[in-house]
Formats: sequence, structure tokens, C-alpha cells
Amino acid sequence: MIGAIIGDIVGSRFQFQDFKSKQFEFFADGCCPTDDTFMTLAIGKALTVCKDRTDEESLRRAAARIMREIAAKHRDETGWGLNFYKWLFEGNPNTQSFGNGAGMRISGVGWVAETEAEVKRLSKAVTEISHGHAEGIKGAECVAMAVFLARIGKDKAYIKERLIQDYYPELAEMTLDKIRPDYGIDDDGNWVTCQGSIPQAMTAFFEGEDFEDCIRSAISIGGDADTIACMTGAVAEAYYGVDRALEEKAVSYLSPDLQFAYFAFDSVKRKREARK
Ligand SMILES: [Mg+2]
Repeated sequence: MIGAIIGDIVGSRFQFQDFKSKQFEFFADGCCPTDDTFMTLAIGKALTVCKDRTDEESLRRAAARIMREIAAKHRDETGWGLNFYKWLFEGNPNTQSFGNGAGMRISGVGWVAETEAEVKRLSKAVTEISHGHAEGIKGAECVAMAVFLARIGKDKAYIKERLIQDYYPELAEMTLDKIRPDYGIDDDGNWVTCQGSIPQAMTAFFEGEDFEDCIRSAISIGGDADTIACMTGAVAEAYYGVDRALEEKAVSYLSPDLQFAYFAFDSVKRKREARK
């Protein structure tokens, strides 16, 4: 989960910039946690407080309630997607989004689930409350599954093959060099959808050489930089781990309520397993 938070914080100053390089100061003036961190911690908290995660209705209710609680507290600290803002604060009943918010908040699932079936079940439960479109459900599950497979020690070749087979066939041909020239903010809003940013985020993970390089790779394609780096970072953490110093640096950006949610989740998550 800290990988997602680091990606968001480091990427925050590049949103809307269409920045296309891996050369930049990692933590710098202007970095801050945004909606990606807030919602990642909200889902983490829902997974923490729901002791019986087989009770999906309780999990759905907790996730919706905690997302709204944390969002209310940090409402003015970030930009929110227009429709998600309406869902959070104005009682908008539309739960059929396929925005990339489905993917950026989901990493906690990969850290608590014991089996692939549980990844799918938990991912669907916390996603369908707001991002119930088929592309939203698929996008969230793809990120959660990638975190899970990385966490239990699968290698990149295996993870990539699984994501190609089960979620995004286009990953087979995708490279950062092919994505970079034409990728970014588009009038159709494709850049903030699951299908328009999750395959790109996974490609940054597959091509990255270590945790930090994965984040730099994600930011180097432009577009919704903090959200893409958040999703890349989520998987990269599960795969490589994150240095304690980097973790402490990221946690220092969080307000006390968010630090509490982070450490509470840390106490319930499962361990990374050796690469196999
Ligand atoms: Mg954001």
C-alpha cells in the first residue's frame, strides 16, 4: 500500500503537465498526497475494520462510509473526479463508473486476500459501490490481482502473462516507448478511465528495474501521472518491497488520521513471500 501512496505523492506535481521524462527530483516542493492516497487508505481502513470479510454487505457499507468520511475530511486538499465527487458528497446514485479511481484505491485487497478467489470477491465488493461498470470491475481486479501475484512471489513474466490472458490482451504489444509520444490528456477523457490508464501503469511496472524506476517510468508517459504512478507503485511495492527510509518519508506527508489508518492496515496485511 505504501507503494501506491509514494506513487501518488511523487506523481502529484506532474498531473496535467504531460511531463515525459524519468529525470526529476523524487520528492520535491509541490508533492502532496491526493485523492489516490485518500481513497487507498479508505479501502485499507474498510478492510481493516471488517473483521469478517466474507460478509460482503458489511464490507460494501464500510467502504462507502469510510471513503466518504475520509473524503469529507480532505475535501479541499485535492481534485476529485467530477462524477465521483457527486457520488461522495451529493448522493449521486450512479454507481456505473469506469474511471481509474477503481484501480488507484484497490491495492489493499492484494495485501489481505489469501487466494485469487478472495482477491476477486473483495475487489468486486469494494468497487461495485461506485465503479460498477464492467471496465471498472475489471480494472480494479487487474490491479488487485497484480499486487497479489507480486506479493506471493510470482515473477514478472508470469504476472504479465496472467494480465494479458485475464484482463488486457493489449499488454502483449505495449511498451513505454510506444505509449509515450501520443499518450496524455485527451478530449474524450480516455486518459482517466481504467482501460485508458491501467494497461499503461502495468507496462511501467513490467519495464521498471526497481521500485523507484517503476515510479519514474510511470510518470514518464504523462497523462494522469499521480494515479498511474499510484497503480504502478502498488504493484512495484508488492514485487520489490520499499525501503524503510522511503516509507517514512511518504508517511511524513500524511495527516495523523491517515497515518493511523496506514499503520492499522499495516498490522493486518499479509507478508511478502519469496520470489518463486
Ligand atoms: Mg490524484
